[in-house]
Amino acid sequence: MSSRIPISRVVLPIVVVLLALCVSAGAQVADAQASNVLVRIYSLQSLKQLTVSPLENASWKTCASCRSHSLTAPIAVQAAGSELRYGNSRSSKFYLIGKCHLQVTGEHAIESHYPLQVRAQGDSLILILSMPMEDYVAAVLAGESGNFKSAEALKAMAVAVRTYAVHFRGRHKAEHFDFCDTTHCQDLHFSAVTDRLRSAVEATEGELLWFQGSPAATYYHQNCGGATAAADEVWPGTKTAYLASHPDPYCLRSDHARWESHISKINLRSALLKSGVQVPADWQWLRAESHSQSGRVQLLDVVGKDGKLAMKLSASTLRFAVDRALGWNQIKSDFYELKNSDDEILFSGRGSGHGVGLCQEGSDAMGVQGKSYREILAFYFPGTGLGISAQGIAWHLLHSEQLDVLTTSENADAAVMTVAQKAIYTARSDSGLQLISHPLLKIYPTLSIYRDSTGEPGWVAASTRGNTIRLQPTELLQQKRLLESTLRHEFLHILVDSNTHASLPLWFREGLVLYLAEGNTRTLNSALLSANQMEAAMQNPQSREQMQQAYASAKTMVARLVAQRGKAEVMQWLNRGVPAGALASLSPAQTAQH
Ligand SMILES: [Zn+2]
Ligand SMILES: [Zn+2]
Repeated sequence: MSSRIPISRVVLPIVVVLLALCVSAGAQVADAQASNVLVRIYSLQSLKQLTVSPLENASWKTCASCRSHSLTAPIAVQAAGSELRYGNSRSSKFYLIGKCHLQVTGEHAIESHYPLQVRAQGDSLILILSMPMEDYVAAVLAGESGNFKSAEALKAMAVAVRTYAVHFRGRHKAEHFDFCDTTHCQDLHFSAVTDRLRSAVEATEGELLWFQGSPAATYYHQNCGGATAAADEVWPGTKTAYLASHPDPYCLRSDHARWESHISKINLRSALLKSGVQVPADWQWLRAESHSQSGRVQLLDVVGKDGKLAMKLSASTLRFAVDRALGWNQIKSDFYELKNSDDEILFSGRGSGHGVGLCQEGSDAMGVQGKSYREILAFYFPGTGLGISAQGIAWHLLHSEQLDVLTTSENADAAVMTVAQKAIYTARSDSGLQLISHPLLKIYPTLSIYRDSTGEPGWVAASTRGNTIRLQPTELLQQKRLLESTLRHEFLHILVDSNTHASLPLWFREGLVLYLAEGNTRTLNSALLSANQMEAAMQNPQSREQMQQAYASAKTMVARLVAQRGKAEVMQWLNRGVPAGALASLSPAQTAQH
């Protein structure tokens, strides 16, 4: 595929108009917002300055509805109280759109094409990215599971990450974002997303784990040390059937399954004092007083000089104090035994992390042993159901020689296979192009799942990324008699994109697809935009109107070129590129109508 942008959104202007009629204006706004998650990045740092360098189609504005200014040179944004300063300007908010390099002091620069909102609070910058849920899931996978060996285990993690996000969304509502980027919510690393991680996300798109009609609390951790912890061992009061303790035979071979740590008594006492725990200076040794159901230490006795109990200490207090003062890897879990000697204590432990829910290293081992992601999830969250809705809807793959169909309703959508095959046939004969790849048609069961999964608004009937066409529920398109034309349009895209010169602009591809799909059947009175304007609107559509205008203009442009040069010649530009001067020769008076 020679698409110049990783995710190419394909919109149907005809469908846009018609579908808009059945989606109320209010719902559209709410849906567009619901489909993206707001993620605060650099949550732990106190940021004084952000330097933004434009890469592609970058612009900025000072309020959501303000006019935007294009960003052509790097700009530094600084916090002063609750005000932002940049160049000679100041404002309380700063919105960035388009692809940019983001550099904050003391960190690696990151590249982002997600809309960014900047504000200031107490002399520090707050940076909030708005990204589609599925991109967020991929970024968390990159932060948490980049080293997994098994593709099935990655898929299990993708479901756990997505479900966790849906379950806990709203935690930071009061601060006006959905998630922070620390382990409080989920750690993420969005510049390290690989194709492998993305395909684990795509293969499970929209799938959640359900328990009694709601998304489950899908906790996960690095290694449980051979027995998972029940939720109420870690968070008293949270008794959850699917988060009970059970043995895990899968994770014990990993490097993190066992650990040892020698901590001197002097260091241990000073770590506790720093956390406000008043350990007597003459304490002698430490012993585990009680264990939880899974075998983790719960309470510790601090024994004094005369062998009498000096104080009691919870295992989590000890671990947090040591974490803070001596580093997180000294006591990796509460699953340990103690050996006291004259001046130090040996912790011999198992596992890493709280131990609740999915054990990442156990999952990976299960996957390597040939277990599917369903089996992995059923093992760690027993009693939950996997599906893209509470009713347990799940994907089925229908295979044919020309294409595959991924559907949740095998019977109803088997008929779509026939329509799709016919659409491929028509698209091939209209374009004279051959299908090089084997397309995948993914049909979403409901409009809301389509919107949440694809990040597309309801008035986009379908979108194509690489070989995958993502389609609204077929009943909706059939009711509007748009199913076949939508599919023909998308298959034309796959044909055009797979036979395309890398430098070919998006507006030409889109215009050609529209021309091939519709011919000159519609009156084209739309005002023509410049090639640059069309390109910018297609890469970063700002509104439905702008998108429609760009598509209409692209189609008119191609139709005029065909009228002037002939279809055969214009088709050849797919491989050669649009010749310089081709547009200049079009006089405004020429029209595509005959
Ligand atoms: Zn958080
Ligand atoms: Zn485990």
